Amino acid sequence: MSGQTEEFTPLNADQVRMYTCGPTVHDYAHIGNFRTFLFEDLLRRVLMQQGYQVTQVMNLTDVEDRIIKKAADKGITIDEFTKPYIEAFFEDLDTLRIERAERYPRATQHVAEMVSLIEVLNGKGHTYVSDGSTYFRIATFPRYGRLAHLDVSGLKAGARVDVDDYGKDDPRDFVLWKARKPGEQSWDTPLGAGRPGWHIECSAMSMKYLGESFDIHTGGVDNIFPHHENEIAQSESATGKTFARYWLHAQHLQDAVGEKMSKRLKNFSTLRDLLAEGYQPRAIRYALITGAHYRSPLAFSPELLKAADSSVKRLDEFAVRLGPVPSPLAGEGQGGGLEVRQRWDDALRDDLNLPAAVGHLFEFIKAFNTRLESGKATADERAAAMAMLRHANRILDVIEFPQALGAEVERLIAERQAARDRRDFARSDEIRQQLLAMGIQLDDTKDGPRWKRIR
Ligand code: AMP
Ligand code: ZN
Repeated sequence: MSGQTEEFTPLNADQVRMYTCGPTVHDYAHIGNFRTFLFEDLLRRVLMQQGYQVTQVMNLTDVEDRIIKKAADKGITIDEFTKPYIEAFFEDLDTLRIERAERYPRATQHVAEMVSLIEVLNGKGHTYVSDGSTYFRIATFPRYGRLAHLDVSGLKAGARVDVDDYGKDDPRDFVLWKARKPGEQSWDTPLGAGRPGWHIECSAMSMKYLGESFDIHTGGVDNIFPHHENEIAQSESATGKTFARYWLHAQHLQDAVGEKMSKRLKNFSTLRDLLAEGYQPRAIRYALITGAHYRSPLAFSPELLKAADSSVKRLDEFAVRLGPVPSPLAGEGQGGGLEVRQRWDDALRDDLNLPAAVGHLFEFIKAFNTRLESGKATADERAAAMAMLRHANRILDVIEFPQALGAEVERLIAERQAARDRRDFARSDEIRQQLLAMGIQLDDTKDGPRWKRIR
């Protein structure tokens, strides 16, 4: 809200309560949406790695203009219409390894809470009714516009909008409760037959699950106005308290010519599209979280995905090259006292600068590879490097670590080595083929055989 980087301190010492605006389930989410959800996953993971306990709530917007229209066109209920998209959303979260929030409340299941909140606003004189719909009168909330840094001095009294999403910087009275229209699904409530506007759901559900004041509220930059501005106006007018204490917004994922990726412009890809084109989920995740700092726009392109794919492979290879280390957890707490560990943590603590953190990690990998090649790296150093890699992967979640080999594989590798030692290359090749069939590829190096898993 200040437009500055501020020091973060939660209301309760070691707990963070955060609310993240979720998807509108009128269709499959596109990867622009997932850039924002991945930024929230990053925030959550960094807070947890810093030792906080995180309670994250993400709403599912399952009633709004487009959903109502599409359901009515198909002649089915809202629930029937949204069900497959909600299921797809959770599948996509798993594919991208986005950690689950603690709660995913749905708007349609919180209409009573929204009605109560609107009634409180009615009681305090913040609303008016016109043609059966209830509007929030923003002239009653002098702080309106503070988040979006809008000048509301030219506010036109009584100018109002019915649609949920409207013009860029034109503050108007917004709808809290929409009167029923013929053919639309509606709720019978003390406010009349109708349905909630979009903004009220996030105020009602965030305060229900996180309290009237909570720590962090996030979304994409397009949420700032009018959505988040309206959430603040509704919530603070009702409670008289600060609503969310810190606001973080992800910049947009853009197409190749710098336009916001959106359904409306039809310049979007879904996760499913990219998987069908053969891209790996890990590369997509990596591209969207490291491609740019969350507050900078990111241009989406096949090149971005290809670069991400090769970075992920380099991380995998480094894990393999470190070879078996004394204990996978040795030095985990300290990152083995490595300087890179401090740099990594500092970058993330500085407003989640993951691109910088990853830069430090790759510098370290490059230097360590040289050490490995010269044969100077000790077992302890390798363990420390492995601990650092695991520490980084707690945030990145893209590396596939080599797993310990089974006893049978170990035995075959030893038998093959014995065959090579007695120059029985026929037997050695036979075992190599046998291991390949088991998904283990052996390469002979001057330090002895190295293995890797192949997919
Ligand atoms: P929606 O499903 O439209 O409500 O959007 C879900 C989330 O995705 C919101 O937090 C939006 O701000 C965010 N979002 C929408 N388009 C983009 C984009 N092109 N890049 C990043 N985030 C986006
Ligand atoms: Zn919201």
